[in-house]
Amino acid sequence: MFDAIVVGARCAGASTAMLLARKGHRVLVVDRSTFPSDVISTHFLWPHGTSYLNRWGLLDRVLASTPSHTVINLVNDGIALSGTVPVDLLRQYFQQVHGDDAGVVQRYASVRRRVLDKLLVDAAVEAGAEVREGFVVEELISEGNRVVGIRGRTREGTRVEERARIVIGADGRNSFVARSLKLPKFDERLKCTFAYWSYFSGFNLETAQLHRRGRLGMAVVPTNFGQNMTLVWGPSEWSETFRRDVVGNFQRGLDFVSPEIGELVRTRGERQERFYGTLDQAAFLRPLYGPGWVLVGDAECFKDQCTATGMTHAFRDAELAATSLDAWLSGRQPLEEALKHYESRRRSQSAAAYYDYVCTLAEMRPLRHDELQLFVVLRGNQEETNRFIATHADIAPVSEFFQASNLFLLNDAAKESSRGHAVFENFEATSRMYQQNFFAA
Ligand SMILES: Cc1cc2nc3c(=O)[nH]c(=O)nc-3n(C[C@H](O)[C@H](O)[C@H](O)COP(=O)(O)OP(=O)(O)OC[C@H]3O[C@@H](n4cnc5c(N)ncnc54)[C@H](O)[C@@H]3O)c2cc1C
Repeated sequence: MFDAIVVGARCAGASTAMLLARKGHRVLVVDRSTFPSDVISTHFLWPHGTSYLNRWGLLDRVLASTPSHTVINLVNDGIALSGTVPVDLLRQYFQQVHGDDAGVVQRYASVRRRVLDKLLVDAAVEAGAEVREGFVVEELISEGNRVVGIRGRTREGTRVEERARIVIGADGRNSFVARSLKLPKFDERLKCTFAYWSYFSGFNLETAQLHRRGRLGMAVVPTNFGQNMTLVWGPSEWSETFRRDVVGNFQRGLDFVSPEIGELVRTRGERQERFYGTLDQAAFLRPLYGPGWVLVGDAECFKDQCTATGMTHAFRDAELAATSLDAWLSGRQPLEEALKHYESRRRSQSAAAYYDYVCTLAEMRPLRHDELQLFVVLRGNQEETNRFIATHADIAPVSEFFQASNLFLLNDAAKESSRGHAVFENFEATSRMYQQNFFAA
């Protein structure tokens, strides 16, 4: 009998298992994968992502083999912004979500999943969790309506049954746990992006480059093994055409979004691996918990990769869920009450607003004139640029940066510095667009 069984041993699962094991609980974590291994995902971490790793004492291990930087470059239709996330906003984020701001760092890093997930699995083992790789969960065991364990198959093909006080589904967007429980998906957003990426050596851009033009995006991010993760994405309705000639269209996409980077990749880039791709990233939410089970990470909330926050959100869920479950397993709180705390953070208005922000961006509409004006205005205002970057990454609330009064102030300041020329044509429309469904939980 375990205290907790975790299904899935990557960003959400290995982290949850590690944190619970560190609190002294008896944890089994299983994954059908073996480690090290990759998963269909690019792997950019914003500063709250690296801060989680730092809080858990793992960042130094990651940075021992992974390049990192403190500034990123965002370019929208040729309007370049460069900035970082302010420490005070990072502190506020951790205070609000977790009640303390230990471990905050202003680092961006892009860690191959074969590096990161292995490191997390090792950390779970070090913490005392039992990890079984190559283990496929095939059935949930229930008593009445309560989940009490799992049945599965080991790497050697042996059928095994294990029981626990709680089963944690950290098994990704196609979660077996969620499907077995017939959990509904809700607030589904079908409009999403397609994405193709590979790994190039032969050049060094020093920091992460995230560019957009029209309905296409492009990112180049330095990663492990002296390579650059190089990505092109666009609206999913274009995916069928794109995939007819991935190699050619990838280069065409780079050239369109950033002619300079397109040329750099064409003339100096040496592709080290095949192209990876995904055509469907339609977003959804699932219920968070029920009798004997909890979901964390993509199993509970999957959304488009266009803001690259899934891994960081998996870390957030791991820490929130582990804190709540520890309060219950240690006898300090009844289970229902403990999980209400997890729910209050995951179903907050600001979480709903960010989900909406990502899903809106994932439609990849061309940026409107007033949206472009916003980037023009930000170019002269480093403080607000940094606040925009923090908002885009879900460190500062969408509702604060995009409230009409803030856009109005930015507009006024820009008018002053542009000698009275209007800068925004329609700031109220910009504000409304980013806040639509803001109150829908
Ligand atoms: C194209 C793309 C690009 C992305 N880029 C980024 C990015 O740059 N930055 C970022 O932060 N996020 C990114 N994401 C999102 C990120 O990959 C996910 O949010 C993250 O992997 C979620 O972690 P997880 O642990 O919840 O699930 P997963 O990483 O999916 O892990 C789930 C695990 O569960 C295991 N499992 C499933 N079923 C079973 C079973 N029956 N028995 C045993 N084991 C099982 C699987 O083997 C798997 O190892 C991207 C996603 C995509 C699709």
